[in-house]
Amino acid sequence: MLFTRITRLALNTRSTRQLSSRASTVLSALDIPTTPTELPGVYDGQWKGSGDVLESICPTTGEVLARVKSASPEELSVALEKAREAYKEFRLIPAPRRGELVRQLREALAAKRDELGALVSLEMGKIKTEGVGEVQEFVDICDYAVGLSRMMNGRVVSSERPGHTILEVPNPLGIVAVLSAFNFPVAVYGWNLSISMAAGNATIWKPSPSTPLCSIAVTKIVASVLEKNGLPGAIAGLVTGGKDIGEALVEDRDVEMVSFTGSEAVGRKVGKVVQSRFGKTLLELGGNNASIIMPDADLSLAVPAVFFGSVGTAGQRCTSTRRLYLHRSIAPEFLSRLQGLYGTIRAGDPLATDTLLGPLHTRGALGIYSSAIDQLKAADAEILTGGSRYDEAPLDQGNFVRPTIAIPKTLDPTHEMWATERFAPVLYAAEFDELEQAIEWNNAVPQGLSSSLWTRDLRNVGKWIGPAGSDAGIVNVNVGTSGAEIGAAFGGNKSTGWGRESGGDAWKQYVRWSACTLNFSDEAPLAQGVSFDA
Ligand code: NAD
Repeated sequence: MLFTRITRLALNTRSTRQLSSRASTVLSALDIPTTPTELPGVYDGQWKGSGDVLESICPTTGEVLARVKSASPEELSVALEKAREAYKEFRLIPAPRRGELVRQLREALAAKRDELGALVSLEMGKIKTEGVGEVQEFVDICDYAVGLSRMMNGRVVSSERPGHTILEVPNPLGIVAVLSAFNFPVAVYGWNLSISMAAGNATIWKPSPSTPLCSIAVTKIVASVLEKNGLPGAIAGLVTGGKDIGEALVEDRDVEMVSFTGSEAVGRKVGKVVQSRFGKTLLELGGNNASIIMPDADLSLAVPAVFFGSVGTAGQRCTSTRRLYLHRSIAPEFLSRLQGLYGTIRAGDPLATDTLLGPLHTRGALGIYSSAIDQLKAADAEILTGGSRYDEAPLDQGNFVRPTIAIPKTLDPTHEMWATERFAPVLYAAEFDELEQAIEWNNAVPQGLSSSLWTRDLRNVGKWIGPAGSDAGIVNVNVGTSGAEIGAAFGGNKSTGWGRESGGDAWKQYVRWSACTLNFSDEAPLAQGVSFDA
């Protein structure tokens, strides 16, 4: 009922540009103006924006939440110049003091965690608990980066020459550009910013053009911390924009590292451009993740995990479960229990606490879903559940689709149906007889992000995590494909881009490394005993 009222409000107000109370409550809590004025979408120490206007559209109701003035090419150049100046100042601040800034950022974010989480739900469309969880991830990685700021250590290496020693020294890198995808409009930037900041870089963010409000709200919080400490805002700049601004940023020789999160298609282009100018890249691209269920799996754990993996975030996580390989002996029972859970899906306003399924993020994503369904039908696949949009009111106002389970006829893992990431809640299932066969299927696709095996047998675990096991960056056992913690480095292999960010050793990419040989002796011998006497 509430949702119906909200939708009508949204539709009635679209022409007059007055926001629904649902939207204005969320925006006001983060000091985002709710008046019809266009918002500045560039921050380089000052807020500005004179480029193309981006529209933030609520995927639940179709309401235009705001119009944002993106960066012009000139504003991007100025933002990069200011980032360079900011870097020169920031790199001289000792790392533990940079960590203190990150700690203050952590506090500021935690204070607005629920409000930011609600904005993620409003603008991106994921349900509230996931929106808040995404902000929590930013908070968590800040904690990690604070500790790291006292541990970004180099090494002392033994020299073969008497009276010499060698140091491996990390120093700040320069400017790190973060280009991010729509589906994690807060956390991906958080993973990068917190580590990049502790490492002493200036960071410049180009978010997805369809989630500008999340980036503005986060940047306001970061800016307030920098300004309170008398530091240049360009340490954490923002340039909203579309493909053109993304391309200009990626091509710019003044950007030492490009951390790109997005599709394989765009990542391929970005990788080539940055490589051609010998910049550094960190690529976090598409996933096509499989869960394998063995006969001895605990189905009371495995079925809900696959349900969350395939339906959570409406199938729009890079780690969403897209392929399901079931041992023949448990396949009928597994599918019947999974279908039972699909039958309980509550679609609706992602801001409402009892909603399990929000909308797809854009109208364009509806096309991705429909073409996947059309392809399945054309190939005579068995569609167990789903396969259509929600076209009854009020869901018809948003981009709502029914999560789908399908059994394709073909088992060829290199067939387009199995080998392509569809960024929608469509789960492809098949039966296998031997674990080796399932592992081969798991590895046969171009992507290599996340994978999950369900078993109680230690011998299976050994195979799965060993040299002939899963070739993905995330190899789980009795844990679904979706939902990683910040402590381990996150990322995937093969066409997922080989990037690693967040925890583990990921920080080592955000610094420049130098080997420094120091001579404390009165001789100057050459290495390897080479003599070069004049
Ligand atoms: P996308 O590739 O369309 O866009 C990503 C970013 O690239 C956006 O900011 C976009 O404006 C920018 N961009 C577009 N064209 C560009 C160009 N030519 N040069 C430079 N930048 C350009 O991706 P999306 O639809 O926003 O996000 C969904 C994709 O992201 C999925 O494939 C998903 O798997 C992937 N993803 C991966 C991870 C991961 O960690 N591996 C995390 C989240 C999302």
